[in-house]
Amino acid sequence: MTEARISPNAFWGPLDPSADAGYDDDRPKRKGFFTDTSICIGCKACEVACKEWNDVPSDHFDMTGTSYDNSHSLNANQWRHVAFIEQPVRPKQTVDLGMPGRAPAYVPGLPATGADPDPVGAGAPAPIDTSDLLGSMLAEAPGSDGGSASADSMDFRWLMSSDVCKHCTHAACLDVCPTGSLMRSEFGTVVVQDDICNGCGYCVAACPYGVIERRRGPDGHKNVGIAQKCTLCYDRLTAGQTPACAQSCPTQSIQFGDVEELRERAEARVAKLHEAGVMDARLYGNDPNDGVGGTGAFFLLLDEPEVYGFPPDPVVTTKDLPEMARKAATAAGVLLLGAAVSFLGRKP
Ligand code: SF4
Ligand code: SF4
Ligand code: SF4
Repeated sequence: MTEARISPNAFWGPLDPSADAGYDDDRPKRKGFFTDTSICIGCKACEVACKEWNDVPSDHFDMTGTSYDNSHSLNANQWRHVAFIEQPVRPKQTVDLGMPGRAPAYVPGLPATGADPDPVGAGAPAPIDTSDLLGSMLAEAPGSDGGSASADSMDFRWLMSSDVCKHCTHAACLDVCPTGSLMRSEFGTVVVQDDICNGCGYCVAACPYGVIERRRGPDGHKNVGIAQKCTLCYDRLTAGQTPACAQSCPTQSIQFGDVEELRERAEARVAKLHEAGVMDARLYGNDPNDGVGGTGAFFLLLDEPEVYGFPPDPVVTTKDLPEMARKAATAAGVLLLGAAVSFLGRKP
């Protein structure tokens, strides 16, 4: 799909961001990521590669107490973050095909309830009928409908997702930056120029995804106090290389390339998963008509965006700026008119 340029300097809608920023026709194609979370194994190689290549400090690692994730969230010292989401799976309804059941469990110390109290010889643990016990456990399980679910279907799954700056088509962080430190690159990505940032933090409040942050430490490290986030490895792109995180991903969960081609690839992957019966597969961020004009880094998810910590319907926070400016100008005009009328209407 070719991105139309609806109007220069628009705050919303589909457009080619590098063309909008003034790069001429021989600019490279827009670059980005398609992250297919269905094949992420949570190895965190991408996090490590990003830190190594970009000299991002490796501190603040600890366990959350709610997950095996030890890097918590995207922040100034975490430009890639692999979320571990442990999710109970709703037990599936099963059909009784009249097949023989599983062998009953042996529970040491409990009396036998089966027909043969000692089926394997003297002294052997006695089998018990666990069907009632399992039935009550399933009825109490989170998400259980208490129907004919079996013990085999009670389970949980891990959702792994490697998150990153979205390199929005309409990037509010860039719109509000008073120094021009945040810039649109010729690849359509959003890059912080560390030596121009004054640490005002306007971009932090403007980002609809909570990505960008000022670095708070460790003391002595470079760029403390400066806004920091993924640059989409701008230095590597200018050298014709793949970003470090995508290069290191062993499963190709992170796919780097031309955004237009990646969007087609992502649509095909979702169709394939749907064909295979994975009907929860969906894309997030690939739609140029969404609230940020589509993102340069978009995702294939296996559940609702909120489950992964993504806003379900992000909107560029500067979208209403033209309307606000128009209203402020109208109010100022009315005030001036009122002042003029009262001045001219005074008795001599
Ligand atoms: S995700 Fe946030 S920091 Fe990244 S480009 Fe969009 S607004 Fe800027
Ligand atoms: S593109 Fe580069 S800067 Fe961005 S997350 Fe990947 S390795 Fe880090
Ligand atoms: S995205 Fe790739 S490198 Fe990162 S955790 Fe998943 S599988 Fe590992």
